[in-house]
Amino acid sequence: MTDTATERTNTNAVANNFIRSRIDEDCAKKTYGEKVVTRFPPEPNGFLHFGHAKSIFLNFGLAQDYAAQCPQSLCNLRFDDTNPTKEETEYVDAIREDVAWLGFDTSGREFYASNYFKRLYHCAELLITANLAYVDSQDSDAMRATRGTLTEPGKNSPFRTRTIEENLDLFRRMRAGEFIDGAHILRAKIDMAAPNMNLRDPAIYRIRHAHHHRTGDAWCIYPMYDFAHCVSDAIEGISHSLCTLEFTDHRPLYEWFLDRLAELGEFTRPLPQQIEFSRLNLTYVVLSKRKLIQLVTGGHVDGWNDPRLPTLKGARRRGFTPEGFKRFADRIGVSKSDSLIDYSVLEDCMREDLNERAERRVAVLDPIKLVLTNYPDGQTEACFAPNHPHHAELGTREIPLARELWIEREDFMPEPVKGFFRLAPGKEVRLRYGYIIKCTGFDLDANEQVTCIYAEYDPETKSGTPGSESRKVKGNIHWLSCKHAVPAEIRLYDRLFAVPNPGAHREGDAPDLERDFLNDINPAAKNIQTGMVELALAQCEPESCYQFERNGYFVADQYDHTAGKPVFNRTVTLRDSWGKS
Ligand code: ATP
Ligand code: MG
Repeated sequence: MTDTATERTNTNAVANNFIRSRIDEDCAKKTYGEKVVTRFPPEPNGFLHFGHAKSIFLNFGLAQDYAAQCPQSLCNLRFDDTNPTKEETEYVDAIREDVAWLGFDTSGREFYASNYFKRLYHCAELLITANLAYVDSQDSDAMRATRGTLTEPGKNSPFRTRTIEENLDLFRRMRAGEFIDGAHILRAKIDMAAPNMNLRDPAIYRIRHAHHHRTGDAWCIYPMYDFAHCVSDAIEGISHSLCTLEFTDHRPLYEWFLDRLAELGEFTRPLPQQIEFSRLNLTYVVLSKRKLIQLVTGGHVDGWNDPRLPTLKGARRRGFTPEGFKRFADRIGVSKSDSLIDYSVLEDCMREDLNERAERRVAVLDPIKLVLTNYPDGQTEACFAPNHPHHAELGTREIPLARELWIEREDFMPEPVKGFFRLAPGKEVRLRYGYIIKCTGFDLDANEQVTCIYAEYDPETKSGTPGSESRKVKGNIHWLSCKHAVPAEIRLYDRLFAVPNPGAHREGDAPDLERDFLNDINPAAKNIQTGMVELALAQCEPESCYQFERNGYFVADQYDHTAGKPVFNRTVTLRDSWGKS
């Protein structure tokens, strides 16, 4: 996909979509009685990413939404764990946690495809008995060579005519462990000339002498995805099996397996139906477990929960919220054509959510000292700041003012450029919630760096007192009293990649140039500095989120934040400023 295909979706389209229309029809006809049953079927071979969030909100969301109309509606969390070598319990636990974090309770609705191994095996024997499956003993090269192409039909395997008895015997011996990996494979007997390659006698079972994280060494043959998936759906009584568009060409196979097994009396109709939707593609990140693994194992990020990563674990640590993801899922909707969503759409959703929920606090991220020369030494007075401008019920809090303050380095310019309305020699600004001050001077070090700023305050201008607004100033800056602030580690995060399409061709590239997505990593995506924060912020619980006034949304780090050493991560800036500074 090219940059120009980038789509900025701004409509709030929870409304209707083609999946809901299909379900509405089924509900009207009572195709599945009083229920809509969906499932979210991750393979436990990695951590969930933003793309999975789309699928989770879709599947769990549909079951929730239709519960009013069809009371028995449900969504299952199914671990699609039929591939023994890549899967681990660690991932199972992490996936369950992520789904719960997004707000869905899966207790009593957790299933494992590996629990169906016996039933799957039984279904395979049924197909053999009905002469609908056979054991092929060609090696993988021969099988590939006889598969044909999109324009040429494939060739029948010399083993396709084996008798039912011979097939049953071989298949049972495959299960008993008599053969090495790859010696035989069980294939559906469909049509080697089918225009759809997926119907050219696809594999059903393969030999894999491998330890499975749940079934141990009980099995040495494992079902293939296309077979395991539809059978698992049928076992669980799924009505609508939603998957991404790349499975569209697999649908005839999904239906073939279930129709045949229904004819053989194994499943009753109505059977589950597969419906495809477009996967989430997002600019400035990669959403593929394979690439995410490379980023982690290559040390390009600090683990699976690095706030720069588009994993749900990373998102949580970054301060992204489940409600923000819900907003995002509603906004992008579901469609039947692939699109690339601009990362700013996700950031906007997080901002909108945080704007509502996050209390305001003051933090000075790049502090420089300001001395109010006419303010009595040793005196402290209370200024009051609202905790949330839209929620008066959240009250105000006291911000103490004293003679020595911290302000942001960038709020002062010794020689102000045109249009700079903050502090500069001889200029006035308002200390937010405090007084109007006038800059009277500053100190420089040997490198011409400003080290301290001096100002005088006007006692008649305290915010909230009568007449304080009579004199207007353009600048309004935040500050903290040095005595009442504590240092905090501030981790400023930005987009993981510097280009919208990591690893993709760019204009002017030679046609054969291969770009590596790792070369597109944004080296400035993580910046750590020491700032000053309100005293009370040190005491907050990990994962508390705030708007640091004028600075953006921040969250207390899930793991590292303590009262003794506060750590805050920047979730998102206040405005979309990517590429604009
Ligand atoms: P990846 O391509 O990252 O390895 P996957 O498709 O192999 O992902 P699964 O664990 O098989 O990951 O996915 C579980 C469910 O999540 C599937 O139903 C899949 O369609 C859905 N899903 C995965 N990636 C996306 C995405 N980018 N957008 C929407 N749904 C997705
Ligand atoms: Mg997959």
